[in-house]
Formats: sequence, structure tokens, C-alpha cells
Amino acid sequence: MNRLRFAPSPTGALHIGGIRTALYNYLLARQNGGRFILRIEDTDQTRYVPGAEDYIIRALNWLGLTPDEGPVQGGPFASYRQSERMAIYRDYALTLVQDGKAYYAWDTPEDLEQMRQRLTDRGVPTPKYDASVRGEMKNSLSLSSDEVAALLEADVPYTIRLNVDPGQSIMIQDKIRGEVVFDSTELDDKVLLKADGYPTYHLANVVDDHLMEITDVIRGEEWLPSTAHHVLLYRAFGWQGTMPTFSHLPLILKPDGHGKLSKRDGQKFGFPVFPLAWPSDKPEESIEGFDSYGFEPAAVINFLAFLGWNPGTEQEIFSLEELIRVFDPERIHKGGARFDYDKALWFNQQYLQQLSFVDAAERLHKYGADAGYNVDVPHLEAVYNLMKARVHRLIEVIPQGYYFFTDALVFDDAEINKKWVPEVGPVLKQVADAINALDVFNHETAAAAAKEIIQASGIKMGVIMPLLRAALTGTTQGPDVFAIAEVLGQEKTVSRFHQLSSR
Ligand code: GLU
Repeated sequence: MNRLRFAPSPTGALHIGGIRTALYNYLLARQNGGRFILRIEDTDQTRYVPGAEDYIIRALNWLGLTPDEGPVQGGPFASYRQSERMAIYRDYALTLVQDGKAYYAWDTPEDLEQMRQRLTDRGVPTPKYDASVRGEMKNSLSLSSDEVAALLEADVPYTIRLNVDPGQSIMIQDKIRGEVVFDSTELDDKVLLKADGYPTYHLANVVDDHLMEITDVIRGEEWLPSTAHHVLLYRAFGWQGTMPTFSHLPLILKPDGHGKLSKRDGQKFGFPVFPLAWPSDKPEESIEGFDSYGFEPAAVINFLAFLGWNPGTEQEIFSLEELIRVFDPERIHKGGARFDYDKALWFNQQYLQQLSFVDAAERLHKYGADAGYNVDVPHLEAVYNLMKARVHRLIEVIPQGYYFFTDALVFDDAEINKKWVPEVGPVLKQVADAINALDVFNHETAAAAAKEIIQASGIKMGVIMPLLRAALTGTTQGPDVFAIAEVLGQEKTVSRFHQLSSR
């Protein structure tokens, strides 16, 4: 059985790159009847942000990517929060020391700085703590056993470092990138356990992937270089036989294709790069999300699935269930995937057409209230049905259809003046009177009454129709005039035609 994990660090709001990683892990787990595991990698105290774990869990829930095992669900390998597994990492680090695969180091930050300086002076381009300098440093390989025993006895805080043998070739069969080869001579003796007792990402990640019986690791490309150390750790522990497969996902690029889409790009480009909003008292720290932009979660999923993958057919609309069926990891791209906000809007529009009023009503009320309107208008459903084909996001229904919620119209005078001819005023008045006289008022009867008058007047439809629309909405562009009229009702239609006729 496949076991896949999403292993975010709770260092802030989760960028959509992280969500895409979660999605691909989820799809693979589901299609193979496997398990999707959420593991919170919270061992870096300096980067821990309160609320981030909760944000991650809410974001996954919003998108429907609910884990089978995790901090909320529990599971056979609990705890799924690394800060609650500290003793485990320590034991494993000590085992490696006993086996000679790792060693204690007592170097102070000053010692490390001096070492870097020495190496730089010797002309070493990338100074690092490795086999070539380990003998000059303060560690259990360079010091005598008496000195080591004394330091341990005195409880002098130590780090534990991986004992990297130079000259070894490390080959990774990445499922996306193919064969990737590293030379251990290039690698440093990575710290596994820090002086404060916390494990580093490398140790905790490998130990947990092993203990949690992870079969496949799918993560961002930025972790590819770390994989070399991870393979060495699997070897050091003697776990090569159960090493997971690795797939490193391509970067998500800025819309212009130049560089990685960053967390700050949302503000810069004016689109969301986070799934959920994260409000803050400080406006500069406040984050918008696909949710606060009014996106449908299913559309976000569909859009993200295509950021770095395609099904090889023309079909673009896939529910999560369909994605589980068709997702083929072989089709994940190697190259970076460009973030295209227009495409995100397009996907959302497709999903909006399927969204029933019942499912939209609660949010429509909220968006309306947020905009300061009383949206308990009798015809909210009709407003929604009329507007939804014209917007990309549900939230746009309110500003674009504001004229259904208020009589305080904002007239686009420039456009109106462009079309206006003196004959229009009296014709508008006649149209208003004719509609007022209708016993049965609806789209068709209003249109018929208006058209009869307009034809008799000799004014071209192309001139008067935009002005009729402007009378009802303030602007010359928008849905069909009589469809708007029907939703507004007879009384408002008549009074708005009258209002513009006497401008
Ligand atoms: N904690 C790492 C992160 O924040 C996990 C990387 C991995 O999946 O191994 O992305």
C-alpha cells in the first residue's frame, strides 16, 4: 500500500506551491488505495509561527484534501507533529554516533567562523565542515577519548553531525528528473541534532519517513539537493531497502516566467498566491487568499493540478474524483510551471456555472453585507442567475450587479453622453409609461412594449438600448435590458426610465 505524506513546516501561510505538493501527494495516495498523511515539521523553533498549523489544516479542508492520518485524525504512527517526537530523533542520532556514522561536535559559532576564514584564506571556494577539516575541529573524531568523555560528563552541549565519507557516488532515481548523481565529496557533515536538542529537518524528515513507512516522497524541487544527504542517512541507518521513491516537482514561476513565484508576488501582481486569507491587525501583514477573492475550492484544485501536469488530452475540467482517476505522475513536467491568473479565473468561471443558488446564497449574503448592501432583495436568486454567466468569481456578482441592491445609481456620464441624442428623453418617458401600463410585467411583455415605441420613434436600437440599460444600471454595458427589468420589477424599472428621461 502506498503511503504518501505532506510535510509542511508551520512557518506561515502556505503558498500555493505547497498546496500543489499536497494535491499531488493526495492524488497518488487515493488512486492507489493508499494513505495520505499530514506531518507537521515544526522542529525549527526560530521559524515557528503560531497559527500556521491551524492555517494548513484549514486550507487542506477547504480544498477537500483531508488527510487519513495527521495531527487531527491521529493514526498508527502518532504523533504527527515532530515537536512531540523529540526523544525519537535523539535516540536515532545517538545510534548513528555509536555506529560511527555520526559524531559529537562541540565547536562554538566562533570556531566555525574561524574555520570558514581559514579555508577561505587557503583558497577553498565553498568552505564547509567536511572530512578535509573535521580533524582540525572540536569533535569526537578529532579529540581523544578522554577529552570526549570529559565533555560528555560535563554536559557541554553538543551537536551531532553526519560523518560523510568523501568520494562516494550518490545516485537518485528521481521519478520526474530521472537519474541525478551527487558526489559525497561536495557534501558537508550535516548537523543532525542541534545543541538545543532539536533535530534538523534532515534527520527528523528521514527518521519519520522511515518510521511512518512512507513509500513515495513528492516535494518541491528546492529539496532535491538535500536528497543527497537523505540517501546517506538511509545508508547510515541501513534502511536502503525501504527507501521511498523521490519525485521533485517543478517550480511555480511568476506570470512572466522569470523566476519563482514568491509569497510577496500576490501583492505585487494583485492576485492570490495563498489558499486562504490570513487577516492581521497590521494591514501590511494581512494576507488575501483564493477564498477571500471568491474562488471555488474545486476550481482552485483543478487549476493547481494543471500547474506542472497535464492529462495529455484536451479535457481541462476535472473534479477531484476525476483527477484521482486520471492523474498520471509520469506526466508531471520537468520545467517550471508559469502561474497564469487569467487561467485561474477561467477555471473558476467554469465552476461557477455549475454552482447552484442554494450553494451560493450564504456567501452572496456575506459578500453583499461586506459591501454594505442589504442583499435580502426578493429576487436574489434571479440576480444570481442573471449575473453568474458574466462574472469569473461569485464575489463579483455584488459590485457588478450593485444596481439590484440600491437605487443610488452611479451613472457613467461619458458613455451616456456619447450615445445621447435629444429625441431619447421623450422616448424613454413613453417606454416608461407603456411598461407602467402593463398588466402582466415580465421580460417578454416589457420588451414587446418598449420595442413597439422605439420602432415608431425611428431611433436606432443600437443607440437606445445602451441608454435603456444605463437608465436601469448606470452603465451602458451589461446583461439584457429586459432581463434586468424583470428582476428589478415593474415599479423600479418605470421609475428608473423616468429618472433618466428627464436628465
Ligand atoms: N518540511 C519540509 C517543507 O517545509 C518538507 C520537505 C519534504 O517534503 O521533505 O517543505
